[in-house]
Amino acid sequence: MEFNITLLPGDGIGPEVVNEAVRVLDVISGKYKHSFNFQERLMGGCSIDKSGKSITDETLADCKASDAVLFGAVGGPKWDDPNAKDRPERGLLALRKGLGVFANLRPVKVHPALVDRSPLKPDRLTGVDILVLRELTGGLYFGQPKLREVKDGHERAVDTLEYYDYEIRRIVSLAFELAKGRRKKVTSVDKANVLESSRLWRQVATQIGKEHPDVELNHVLVDTASMKLVAAPASMDVVVTENMFGDILTDEASVLAGSMGLLPSASLGESGLRSGGEARMGLYEPIHGSAPDIAGSGIANPVGTILSAALMLRYSFELESEACVIETAVEQAIAEGARTTDLGGKLTTRQMTDEIIQRL
Ligand code: NAD
Repeated sequence: MEFNITLLPGDGIGPEVVNEAVRVLDVISGKYKHSFNFQERLMGGCSIDKSGKSITDETLADCKASDAVLFGAVGGPKWDDPNAKDRPERGLLALRKGLGVFANLRPVKVHPALVDRSPLKPDRLTGVDILVLRELTGGLYFGQPKLREVKDGHERAVDTLEYYDYEIRRIVSLAFELAKGRRKKVTSVDKANVLESSRLWRQVATQIGKEHPDVELNHVLVDTASMKLVAAPASMDVVVTENMFGDILTDEASVLAGSMGLLPSASLGESGLRSGGEARMGLYEPIHGSAPDIAGSGIANPVGTILSAALMLRYSFELESEACVIETAVEQAIAEGARTTDLGGKLTTRQMTDEIIQRL
């Protein structure tokens, strides 16, 4: 099969880790006789330096026209001026909006050989395998009105938390779809005891639950969910929630794994016709930032980006076995002692990838 992939390496360690994911994809394409056509574009600080904009209209159009986008990270001290006309992160928000990716997926697994890297007690970490789905394009971050004003002699700020039923339906349906390939448990997180938008969320989630009697549905309040994530993380399978709750819970969940450098993410849009078949547009990226403190030293952990490439094969290209081959190679490499410095080892970015490639 043939797929067109836009690479957005970005800033800092972004280009270093995307480069390694491409090496892995090249091996997979050779082994399984696929063609991955890569085109590289600028986004973030490097794009501001070249064109004055964090993302240009042409880059956005190229991303939309491709089958999937693999992104590294953006940002760094050079572009931190709060009064600057454009900032690297703005390009990422424009990209997510432009691609219509409404569901952010963060799988969190704890590798048995790395339990000592996690701040949690080892007995809490056995069997942790969570998939968090965060709604990405609605809720408090986008609702209108959003304003500041002076009213009755006081400064006042307003954000609006708004959800339509269709926005809830599409992400909760995706959660159920994904749960079927896992342990068949969906935890829907809301604050239905206080928020009207959460009551609508729970109502829609309950309806969808009835359409999927083979999947167990639990409703959990966000405050309880945040405790459960650290007290009994192994009891959770698929977790689905709105934008702001998801923003906080995904970061909390990522701590379980022990290093930022290990975790991938996928942001998915609606299914559509791409490359001649039905597929989902997706933006794939590691969860970490541009790590300016280690950029250029060749020691960044490439695993988060390599696993993001595996998610791309799974969700956008429906190449499940190829995705599993990459994930198994990563697991084996770690089990057999391959470690970058963030994991307490000595391997460089390139050597860590070599260890993974040897096991593909
Ligand atoms: P960061 O994730 O870049 O780094 C946090 C710490 O984790 C650093 O000590 C870094 O060295 C380490 N780290 C991160 N990724 C690693 C990897 N792959 N291997 C080894 N160590 C790794 O977060 P930060 O320092 O808060 O932010 C740095 C810049 O990145 C800022 O400009 C921020 O705005 C930007 N940022 C971008 C994104 C993104 O592009 N999606 C996300 C978060 C932060």
